[in-house]
Amino acid sequence: MTPKKALFLLSQEGIPLYDVRQVLSLWDVDFDRIALSEKEIDDKTFFEVLEKLKGGYPVAYLVGHVDLLSVRVRVSPDVLIPRMETEDFLSDLLAKKDLSGKKVLDLCTGSGFIALAIKKRFPKALVTASDISQKALSLAEQSAKENALSVHFLKSDFLDAIDGKFDFIISNPPYIPLHSKFVRAPYEPQLALFSGEDGMDSYRQIFPRLEEHLEEKGEAYFELEDANAEKTKALAMSILPSRSAEILLDFDGKKRFLHLF
Ligand code: GLN
Repeated sequence: MTPKKALFLLSQEGIPLYDVRQVLSLWDVDFDRIALSEKEIDDKTFFEVLEKLKGGYPVAYLVGHVDLLSVRVRVSPDVLIPRMETEDFLSDLLAKKDLSGKKVLDLCTGSGFIALAIKKRFPKALVTASDISQKALSLAEQSAKENALSVHFLKSDFLDAIDGKFDFIISNPPYIPLHSKFVRAPYEPQLALFSGEDGMDSYRQIFPRLEEHLEEKGEAYFELEDANAEKTKALAMSILPSRSAEILLDFDGKKRFLHLF
């Protein structure tokens, strides 16, 4: 079929325009020049893709990458698809903080996008990225190579295998309560999302070992869920009495990050 016909069928199914652009790129069709395109889209693969999309399969997994903060990051069902909230927070942080020459740890890196975006913005930062999933690490390593970024990847269950101290620790750990009715992400790795009955097991494992790995003048940022923000802050305060804590909001006004300093 022609790209125009494909566009028509995708729109008819209510696939958002932003996704359509990505989907058409699967056949090397440039959305902005669709009227001029002479490409032929194979019917069979098109309808396979359409069926997946109708079932809620993420476009990012079909395309195999996402472009954010000047890096192209590979994604597969082994890693969480980076969320806008995280990207937005990171973009803000990179504009405000000077991480040049600093030791930075991206804990529970998944696709690696936090680590890679930091290294891209601050080539002199010494960036380590860890994850419990070897599959995630392999994918992140591939992205690092493709973006010509040098990041030290390390397999670690939270801070277990981490050595030394860091100036900045940034983490988007699993933080969704096990039986949450609000988060449905059936195609994404459940290991990267859920964290015990109340969603706070990750922080229970991380906070007691944080002091050991954070420089005295260091700072840490943890992504969290609005509903758990105050409880997570209280937990941090009880385990890390010498630190200060503040909660940061996302673009939607939701409590989204805990900043320890
Ligand atoms: N913010 C993600 C979501 O709502 C969850 C991320 C996480 O658990 N780290 O799907």
